[in-house]
Amino acid sequence: MSETEAPVVVNNFLRDIVSADLASGKHKEIVTRFPPEPNGYLHLGHAKAICINFGLVEEFGGRCHLRYDDTNPAKEEQEYIDAIEADVRWLGFDWGRHLYHASDYFEQLYLWAETLIEKGLAYVDDQTPDEMRLNRGTLTEAGKPSPFRERAVAENLDLFRRMKAGEFPNGARTLRAKIDMASGNINLRDPVLYRIIHTPHPRTGTTWCIFPMYDYAHGQSDALEHVTHSLCTLEYDDHRPLYDWLLEQLPVPARPRQYEFARLNMTYTVLSKRSLTQFVKEGHVDGWDDPRMPTIAGMRRRGIPPEAIRDFVKRAGVARANSVVDIAMFDAAVREYLNKAASRYMAVLKPLKVVIENYPEGQSEELEAVNNPEDPSAGSRKVPFSRELYIEQDDFMENPPKKFFRLSPGMEVRLRYAYFITCREAIKDAAGNIVELRCTYDPATKGGNAPDGRKVKATMHWVSAPHAVNAEVRIYNTLFSRPDPGADGDVVKDLNPNSLEVIADAKLEPVLAARNEKTTVQFERLGYFVRDSKAKGLVFNRTVGLRDSFAKAQ
Ligand code: ATP
Ligand code: MG
Repeated sequence: MSETEAPVVVNNFLRDIVSADLASGKHKEIVTRFPPEPNGYLHLGHAKAICINFGLVEEFGGRCHLRYDDTNPAKEEQEYIDAIEADVRWLGFDWGRHLYHASDYFEQLYLWAETLIEKGLAYVDDQTPDEMRLNRGTLTEAGKPSPFRERAVAENLDLFRRMKAGEFPNGARTLRAKIDMASGNINLRDPVLYRIIHTPHPRTGTTWCIFPMYDYAHGQSDALEHVTHSLCTLEYDDHRPLYDWLLEQLPVPARPRQYEFARLNMTYTVLSKRSLTQFVKEGHVDGWDDPRMPTIAGMRRRGIPPEAIRDFVKRAGVARANSVVDIAMFDAAVREYLNKAASRYMAVLKPLKVVIENYPEGQSEELEAVNNPEDPSAGSRKVPFSRELYIEQDDFMENPPKKFFRLSPGMEVRLRYAYFITCREAIKDAAGNIVELRCTYDPATKGGNAPDGRKVKATMHWVSAPHAVNAEVRIYNTLFSRPDPGADGDVVKDLNPNSLEVIADAKLEPVLAARNEKTTVQFERLGYFVRDSKAKGLVFNRTVGLRDSFAKAQ
């Protein structure tokens, strides 16, 4: 089956849940949310969560909130907040007026923490983080109650208020839920609800020095926003009992449900903000938007269209079983979209000069070239042709093996949109390298067909030498040299030393320089490329290669 006919498998158990809840009347409309923590740039895994949350609402109606899970001022930055919004929009989703922050709820969350204390369901613990860890127990052993667990309500309230007032240093005390130190679920062994962090918060400044933990803030934020389906990844599966416990104990205005789906994992790719941050900070890549990064910003700079990302996420499906998607499936989704959408141009990456001996010196002409054979509405353009051309070094062999049908001495081939040419001689330098081909053309084959019906076995791309513009072309390979980076413990060790190949002197069809094209284009027979958005000169990034060159396909 060809790539373009691949079936789109849409496996999504969350759609079934939502559709049943609407059918039964449990909900009149659904409310979902995408809740990033602004401590890094969004990556392809987040794109999956974004597509799921916004996608359900696109399909079933309702609304999807963008909510910053900004509960840890020590790790969060405004740069990340801005990037997240730009990235979600670029993917094609809109939260309308529903932009929220967990920090919007700090006051209410604080009051509810007092409610828990008053109900005897929370206490201030003076244990150090190490003591708490030791006393938490293990999967097979119950935890030990804190010596502060039985503090009176009044003392807890007083200490919690003094924590809020800034009387204690970082780590001196925490507020913990009083649930069950012997629970089989470690998340229920008196989880920490609040900790002291004396770091200014991007939004609340120094108003707060106690901050709610994710597990405490999340469900209550969902309830405050009347979220119906709170969708998260599988690692939160055993946090759900705590999510539910808190909602049961507190006078919340709504009762959201949490559902978990499998994270997106992909071969040759690391989707962990912590590791991606490390690559940026240690300089293994050129920033968060390095085109080799699986960040949305990196993919955008590499020329990957948002439609292809959305299509890929849909094909990868939404399931509860963890799996690893083959990166080839991602590339196929990108190619499939670009094959339909991208305009074609000619570019020569490794140039070999060709002189057409019987084409008059000083003459040139403009030939008609189709912009996109997949899309007649894309029209055509003029490509200059002259006596001196460039072709790809790889398209010539002096002593070709049997199945090599491209150019070799005596062989006739078609130059795309131009003429048939025949190679007469290969000129070498003193060291024996081929530096130039002498060819002749058949003027009767203009446009690429011979009136006598004779056939050639190859069609090659080319660029007119006096008209060509020089460009740098960056070819990206996978960022890792093994499909399962980090499997031996160290992802940095698995970085691919050949993930970037720079071609300094590619020759492009002149219109590529004139037109400040921001969209991804096809260089015929080579792949898809996009003008780099940051480089000053003419630099193109390879988005993805073509699976087959048309020399083979035709
Ligand atoms: P990371 O593990 O990369 O640091 P995170 O889960 O800590 O990611 P958040 O900002 O908290 O990052 O994530 C926001 C949302 O994106 C969460 O609902 C999270 O479950 C989801 N998400 C994160 N990584 C993936 C992934 N690989 N596949 C699907 N969803 C993901
Ligand atoms: Mg997280």
